Amino acid sequence: MFIHYGRIIHMTENRTKKRIGTTGVIQILLAISLVFLGISVYAFYHPQKITPASPEPSEEASAQPTPEVTPLPSHLTDPNSIYVFIDKTHPVAEDFVPSDLAAPYFNSTGEIIQLKQEAADHLKAMMNAAAAENIQLVVFAGYISYQTQSDYYQDRVSLLGEAEASKVIEKPGYSEHQCGIAVDFSSNSTSATSVSYAETDAGKWLYAHAHEYGYILRYPKDKESLTGYSYMPWHYRYIGEEYAKMMYEISPDLTLEEFYAINK
Ligand code: ZN
Repeated sequence: MFIHYGRIIHMTENRTKKRIGTTGVIQILLAISLVFLGISVYAFYHPQKITPASPEPSEEASAQPTPEVTPLPSHLTDPNSIYVFIDKTHPVAEDFVPSDLAAPYFNSTGEIIQLKQEAADHLKAMMNAAAAENIQLVVFAGYISYQTQSDYYQDRVSLLGEAEASKVIEKPGYSEHQCGIAVDFSSNSTSATSVSYAETDAGKWLYAHAHEYGYILRYPKDKESLTGYSYMPWHYRYIGEEYAKMMYEISPDLTLEEFYAINK
């Protein structure tokens, strides 16, 4: 092949420069083919090392672990963290009690509402902001101990049966309330939580403003397949202003499962 190629080049050089005939075209095509062949052979023996681009480390990246990450990163499993992730498969230890429970509120029945200090401070700011717009936010529940949650759950099971109850109330050990970061609101503190809360002025105000105070609607409408729970317009969860605002910017109905990219 190469000998032949050399002969062709030699012949080409001897040809007249007036015009390139059919033979000349064939020779040029052959020459081009050989150049490509040469490149291919070189590439075969000198494969380029492909190194995957390493993502730039950022806070956002650590906040949104890829679905492959199992088990969850430690800041998502630490029940004392405001970022903790709790769902039907990620429980809290039965004996866990938040290390910094604050008890600044009483509801109208005189019950003490406790929350983690940071969540309590932000709830207070949120209630004041709502009050300035003549919206009264009534807190129905905050921190709930494992035992109390167990009682609530059993009550609901006896009313609805296990299957239906598990859609509207967390099993003991699987509740954000045990971490002191969840708040249930109600129209008034003597009425039970209800889906109709979404239609109240307070419910609408929360939906539009809770993220400004670090709270998110934890179980949005039509997201049961992701969260495992029915729409709970009364249940807001504290996660800090930074993440709450980021989530709201994406969508007011974004779930924590989507934000943390946790596959079910
Ligand atoms: Zn709740």
